[in-house]
Amino acid sequence: MTNKYASLLRQYGFKVTHARVKVLERLEHATKPMTAQELHEELSDAKMDLATVYRSLNKFADAGLISRIRLGDEFARFEFVGHHHHHHHHIVCNSCGKVAEIELCNLDDLSQAIAQKTGFRNIAHQVVFRGDCEDCANKS
Ligand SMILES: [Zn+2]
Ligand SMILES: [Zn+2]
Ligand SMILES: [Zn+2]
Repeated sequence: MTNKYASLLRQYGFKVTHARVKVLERLEHATKPMTAQELHEELSDAKMDLATVYRSLNKFADAGLISRIRLGDEFARFEFVGHHHHHHHHIVCNSCGKVAEIELCNLDDLSQAIAQKTGFRNIAHQVVFRGDCEDCANKS
């Protein structure tokens, strides 16, 4: 296999398998972070059991090939890290759990202020926004 996912896997030191290529391909085309369960359901023809999908995702995330996101429930979600995928945030609907991408962040100033106040360095942040999505807001 010589597609870009196969080369990515090699670049990060992973053995290339059809299933792993499928996982990365699906993740890159996802419009929101996906759980292992969701990926497993969508890739049912890749003949990978859920535990294998889960293990691969965690290995990829530990290696920095994909990112692992927590949105405040018990599920880890995963997102492809491409060159277009810079730092960003997510907002989750309180009612239906829908996730939207937020390609904005103005927390750098705040981080600098925190650095000055606390003396901490290399400050990073993880923020999850919550609200009622348009559909749910219209229902009530
Ligand atoms: Zn909603
Ligand atoms: Zn995202
Ligand atoms: Zn941010």
